[in-house]
Formats: sequence, structure tokens, C-alpha cells
Amino acid sequence: MPEPPIYLDHHATTPCDPRVVEAMVPYFTEVFGNPASLTHDYGRRAANALEDARISIARFFRVQPNELYFTAGATESNNIALNFLKPGDHLITTAMEHKSVLVPARRLEKRGVDLTILWPDHEGFIDPDSLSAALRPNTRLVSIEAANGEIGTIQPIAAFADICRQRGVLFHSDITQAAGKIAVELPAIDLASFSGHKIYGPKGIGGLYVRRGVRIEPLIVGGGQEKNIRSGTVNVPAAVGMAAAFRLRAAEMVAEADCLIAIRDSLWERLTAEMAGASVNGPRALRLPGNLNVSFDRVEADSLIVAMRRFALSSGSACSSGERGPSPVLTAIGVPEAAAFGSIRFGLGKSNTAEHVGMLVDDLKRVVAKLREISAA
Ligand code: PMP
Repeated sequence: MPEPPIYLDHHATTPCDPRVVEAMVPYFTEVFGNPASLTHDYGRRAANALEDARISIARFFRVQPNELYFTAGATESNNIALNFLKPGDHLITTAMEHKSVLVPARRLEKRGVDLTILWPDHEGFIDPDSLSAALRPNTRLVSIEAANGEIGTIQPIAAFADICRQRGVLFHSDITQAAGKIAVELPAIDLASFSGHKIYGPKGIGGLYVRRGVRIEPLIVGGGQEKNIRSGTVNVPAAVGMAAAFRLRAAEMVAEADCLIAIRDSLWERLTAEMAGASVNGPRALRLPGNLNVSFDRVEADSLIVAMRRFALSSGSACSSGERGPSPVLTAIGVPEAAAFGSIRFGLGKSNTAEHVGMLVDDLKRVVAKLREISAA
């Protein structure tokens, strides 16, 4: 049996922590009730578990449990967050956003919502002054992510939230890539989307934070679960798992970030010092701990990924890889098309070590040289 490849794609998803799986197991079998079935103990125990999960996550974010709604993931949370906008309203978002913000935003535009897209600087930062300048009397919502999953840029969301509050505009942030990795101040913002599977929790579960007093519109209606914000029986085992994952993050996140920064920076130094034609995309400071995005001159990322057999790598966000065309995020920060096609996103996580970095640099040197030789021939 060949060794499984070393996983370096932690922005796409993370393995479920065995302690999370252990916490979930009883909710598939013993405590299987529908949390709406309050007539018997099976249902009541499931309902209690769901509320305990909500309390744990609320504690993590220092918000109230009744400000949190379970969803099927951050895609759904983002869609719900934007759904209250009506024709004639103005929405501001950015070219850095995940497609689960940008595609609903474009759809709203087709339905008569005014849309402004803010453009980043060459490191991916959105300038708060550009947000101030874009606000209009009919601006109802601003949606800007907390951190980018491709190039790691951590946005100044507190500054955006301040601007929005002063102008009476709601501020939504997609915090999916930031939550559980860096500190995020939820109480300062109105709406926030997050997901279980980016923090060593299960897939198919996420949450939407809605600050008390903020009115939004459900996307999916029916049984009225989650106070009508998201109908459908909640995935109780997954909610329990996501809460366990957040509890572990609270205990482990800071130490893990220090480790990731150390191994990420050593990868950065070695790649740029020891390899010709390797350039980092995105910022030096204010970058997600486990993120490095590198363009290799005269190399196609797709060929590089195939040839790097000992590693599981990706060239961009999982959702847009598989599509042709350069990454919209790299294009937005001004990376030329050829360099964007030669870019790899390294997503380090808690299973990665300094030894992995050594192996990675060795393999990259060899494979990149080989691919350049073939393309020059
Ligand atoms: N937003 C961001 C920034 C993401 O990285 C992702 C996952 N790639 C999502 C939203 C979607 O999350 P989910 O998979 O939970 O729908």
C-alpha cells in the first residue's frame, strides 16, 4: 500500500477531529429524536443537545445563543443573509468574496437590487475609505469576508462594521475561513456566516449569527424550525459536532496558529530563497496562519499538482478549481494570467509538521525543474 498523500488543502476542508466524532456518535443512535418532538424523551433530549450546542458556539463567539441559527453550511448562511434585499435596495460586496456571496449578489442584481463590487489592493485588502465612498442613501447591506481562503488576507472587518454602524447600514461578514483560526469579534457586526467543516468539524452544518433586533428573510420555508429562519429538521449530530469543534478551537486555536505560522513562514522563506521564479501572492502580515499562495513561473499548476504525488494540493478554492480560467481572486489583486495559472494554494493544518515542509520543498524543486525542462523542450 502506498502512503496516503500528505494533506495540504485545509482551506477546502479539514478532517473531522476524532474527539468531535466521538461527541457526535450517540446522536445518531441513542439520542436520535426529532428536536421538535417535545412529547417524549427522545425528542426532548435531542432538543436539549441542540440548545447545548448553540450555547457552546455562542460562548465561543461571545454572543447570545438566541442570536445563532443552525444552517446546512456557510453557503446556505450567506444566501440567507442576503435574501432580505428588495429591488431598489443597494448592496455592497467585494471581488474577494466566495461564490456563495457573489452568485446570490449577481442574482439579486438581475432582480433589481443595485450592486457595487469593491476591488482590493494588490494584497487583497479592501480599503475602508472605498467602502465609505460607495455608501448611498439606499444602501441596506454590506457583505465583506473576514479572511480569504485563497490568499489568506485578513480584512479589517471592525473598521467596516464601524462605518456601517455610523451610517445605519447592516454589515454581514462571511467568517468561514477566519472563525476558529483567528479572533473574530462578532458582537460588533450584524450578520455572520460560518461552517463546521473548516474547523475539524463535520460537513453539512453551519451557522448564521443574526444580531438581536436585525430582521432578515428566510430562504427555505416550511416547518418553521430555527425560529422560521431556516425550516427543516436540524442535523443534530452535526450541530453537536460543530459545537465540540468550536470548544476544541477555543482551547487549541492560539497554540496551533503559532505552530502554523512558524511552518508556513519557513516554507515561504525556503521557496523564495531556494527556488527561482517562485513568488508569493497575498500579504506578509495580516494573513491566515496556515495559508500560502505561490505562483511558479513557467509552470501549469494543474501539471504541478498531478506530479506532486506525495501531497494533496489545490490551485485555488475547491469550488472554483475544476473550472477553467484564472482564479478571480488572483485576477482581482492584479496577478497576471500566466502567473495565476501557475499558482498553488498551500493550506496547512494541525496535522502538518516542519518535516512535511522539508519534503514539500524538495519535491517542488525537483518537479518544477522537470516541468520547466519539458515546457522548454
Ligand atoms: N465561504 C467561504 C469563505 C468558504 O471558504 C466556503 C467553503 N469553501 C464557504 C463559504 C462555503 O461553505 P460550505 O462548504 O459550508 O457551504
